[in-house]
Amino acid sequence: MRVLVTGGAGYVGSHALRILLNNGHDAVVVDNLAFGHQAAVPPDRLIVADLMERETIESIMRRHKIDAVMHFAAFAFVGESVTNPAKYYRNNVVGTLSLLDAMLATDVRKIVFSSTCATYGLPQTVPIPDDHPQAPINPYGFTKLVIEQALADYAHAYDWGYAALRYFNASGAADDGSLGEDHTPETHLIPLALQVALGQRDHLKLFGTDYPTPDGTCIRDYIHVDDLATAHLAALERLEPGVAWKLNLGTGVGVSVREIIETCRAVTGHAIPTIETERRPGDPPELVANSQQAFRQLDWEPRYTDIRQTIESAWRWHHAHPNGYADSADRTE
Ligand code: UDP
Repeated sequence: MRVLVTGGAGYVGSHALRILLNNGHDAVVVDNLAFGHQAAVPPDRLIVADLMERETIESIMRRHKIDAVMHFAAFAFVGESVTNPAKYYRNNVVGTLSLLDAMLATDVRKIVFSSTCATYGLPQTVPIPDDHPQAPINPYGFTKLVIEQALADYAHAYDWGYAALRYFNASGAADDGSLGEDHTPETHLIPLALQVALGQRDHLKLFGTDYPTPDGTCIRDYIHVDDLATAHLAALERLEPGVAWKLNLGTGVGVSVREIIETCRAVTGHAIPTIETERRPGDPPELVANSQQAFRQLDWEPRYTDIRQTIESAWRWHHAHPNGYADSADRTE
């Protein structure tokens, strides 16, 4: 298939792009490089453009005879979405509507959308099933939920097929250490812990030790980025008009913050000093996926079920690229 990958220079998008290309698909990336990295995409695959430029996107779709879209482009800092919701609604919602208009104009009827467990808000049951009520607790989660709803309505009215894939905690890096996580600012637990191990930070803050969990710290479901990528590929290859999938992507295994830190210590051989601080506002105690539907519908399951392997892959990336993609001189200008 010929696939348009929006946000393909970002963390999950770049891994998905590689897996698409390795599986015989043709693909072109549209990324405005607001957060994406040029070095994460082969140069001949990257078009620098914004989704708001509807006519540009439309002409790219026509020129490349696009059959399907994988839509990763979005702003994803939860805290910033609270202080600057306009930026999030404009970029994530209006940007996506512009993309959907371009799909309508060019009769592209398949889309795999990058959604999130943040659409659930505070879970009533854990593991969280795909049909759990969706009640986001921040604007970021709402922007993703609005798009899920738009996709459901468009699919119904225009005979599209779509998959909204709700990720839990994306983590890890490509096995060969050549693609990985590089956010500015970095807010995620595993890369921050590994930056301490690299000597780039003095300590890691541990946000809350009084949660109602066995060791008092939050529990999350860390899903390897290459497992997310293969789930996207499986969804893409199975989409047809009338398919409307809303699927959790997680491992089903919950790991606490303390367990992550211990594993990072074991993998890196570094002490990784921590400072215990207050809870971070908006963090639910436990988020773990029930991904049975994804296993069934996509005939997919995660390869990385041991957090140690995931952290080892992340460490290969961070160790080889202590400054992220700024160290990938071979692909930058
Ligand atoms: N966390 C932490 N210290 C940090 C960053 C994160 O203790 O410097 C905790 C955070 O409170 C949450 C877990 O690690 O319980 C995972 O956070 P992350 O930001 O990686 O992902 P999120 O679950 O927010 O999507």
